[in-house]
Parts: sequence; structure tokens; C-alpha cells
Amino acid sequence: MSHSLEGKVALVTGASRGIGAAIAKRLAQEGANVAITYSKDAKGAEAVVSAVEALGHKAVAVQADAADVKAVTAAVEQAVKAFGRIDVLVNNAGTAIPKPFEDTPLDELNRVIDINVRGVMVTTQAVLKHMPNGGRIISIGSCVGERIMTPGLTAYAATKGAVKMFTQGLARELGSRGITVNNVQPGPIDTDLNPASGDWATPQLAATALNRYGHVDEVAALVAFVAGPDAAYITGTNLTVDGGTNA
Ligand code: NDP
Repeated sequence: MSHSLEGKVALVTGASRGIGAAIAKRLAQEGANVAITYSKDAKGAEAVVSAVEALGHKAVAVQADAADVKAVTAAVEQAVKAFGRIDVLVNNAGTAIPKPFEDTPLDELNRVIDINVRGVMVTTQAVLKHMPNGGRIISIGSCVGERIMTPGLTAYAATKGAVKMFTQGLARELGSRGITVNNVQPGPIDTDLNPASGDWATPQLAATALNRYGHVDEVAALVAFVAGPDAAYITGTNLTVDGGTNA
């Protein structure tokens, strides 16, 4: 490990398992103290805290549903209380509704928009008050935010397309502070949200060039690079880690 984030403070949303947990642990391996949020899985969140502490760094876990504006704001304040500032924000909390658009009820549409879009915006606004110059904002979009090969992900893809343009717009606003804003777009990654086996996996697997699902650590590695000093001139960009899905 390069220890490129020694002394830095990171906040990773939705990090009790899956891609977020891998990112939190990887940023700690690089030297960061890490705050995480989760909505339900307190046990998973505690395991991530223990893993970060085992690496010799500090960690806090705060329960905050990304759809709950007050909870998100309070979580950011708690992270700042613990560590004084936030150098790296990773907007990872997200959800999907895999079903035909016509059959998607309004409450499910609201939920995916509230978590994947409004949650990202509200978290970023709250964090910006505490982010020094040279900070990093990294959102976890999706390869389907740019290109979509399978039906049933219309609303989800629309939210990830929103994350893409949010990233590009915000990069223009924060450049003068040396804060970079980037969107990491995974393809099919084996998690609870998108297990590598089952009917749903078959078309996604077929769309990859590498003929396999990705591992959470492969997304975390890209996030760690973008968070680090070597990526200081990368901003407003959409970095795809998708096994060639969008090739
Ligand atoms: P998982 O469902 O495996 O994990 C999601 C994590 O986010 C959990 O820690 C969960 O914690 C937390 N979370 C879920 N909902 C909320 C919420 N409302 N508020 C706060 N935390 C929440 O998902 P992945 O790891 O697969 O996905 C992570 C991100 O990556 C998402 O933004 C997803 O859209 C994106 N992505 C994933 C891909 C994949 O193939 N897996 C592909 C492309 C993008 P808890 O259980 O406690 O709520």
C-alpha cells in the first residue's frame, strides 16, 4: 500500500457491506481515518469499524438513511465532530429497482430518486462546509448512467445519469478550491444488490468483455487512486470500471 491518504479523513456513505465497505477499508489501508454511514446493517457497520481500527486508524459508524435529509446532515456533523473535517467524500449509498418502468410504483420511484440523487446532493452540500481546499468528492454512479444494454433498469439508470451530470457541474464550481469531483461507474460487481449468480446476472455477464463479474476491491482500488494525490488533475470525469461492459 502507498499510504497516499495518511492523515486524511474520509466519509463513505452506505458502507456496512458491498462496495462501500470495500472502499472504507481500502481508504484506511491508504492511511485515512474513516466515517461511514449505513441505514440498517449495524452489525456490518461495526465490522467495518473494527477492520479500520485493526489497520491502526480511527473509524466511526453513523446510522443515516440517505433518503432522510436531517439524518444525513446530522451524520456529517457527527463525522466532523469525531475527526474535525472531511477531506474525501465518497457518495456510495444507492439502491436499484430492477423492474419494468411501467410497473414501478410511485413510492419505489421516489425512494430510488431520494437515495441515489437527492441523497448524493444533500450529503455533498453538508460536507462542503467542512472540506478543505484540495478535497475529493467521489460519487459511485454506474456504467448504466452512460449506456444501457438490459431492460428493467430505466429509473435506476436515470438516477445514475443524474449523478454523472451532477459530477460534471460541481467540478466546474469547485475547481478554484482545488477540490476534484469525479464519478466512478462500476459495471456488474458481485454484492447483495447484484449477486453474480441467478437470472438477473446472466445478461449482465454476457455484456462484459472480460466474461466475469467484478470484485468490490476492483472498485475500491479506483476510488483510492482518485482520492489520492496522484489524481489531483482528474476532475469532472466519469471513470468506468465495468469489465468492458460499455466498450
Ligand atoms: P449493496 O446493496 O450490496 O450495499 C449497499 C450499502 O449501502 C450497504 O452498506 C447498505 O447498508 C447501504 N445503504 C443502502 N441503502 C441505504 C440508504 N438508504 N441509506 C444509507 N445507506 C444505505 O450495494 P452495492 O455495494 O452493490 O452498491 C453500492 C453502490 O454501487 C450503489 O450506489 C450502487 O448503485 C452502485 N453500483 C453497484 C453495482 C453492482 O453491480 N453492485 C454496479 C453499479 C453501481 P444498510 O444495509 O445498512 O442499509
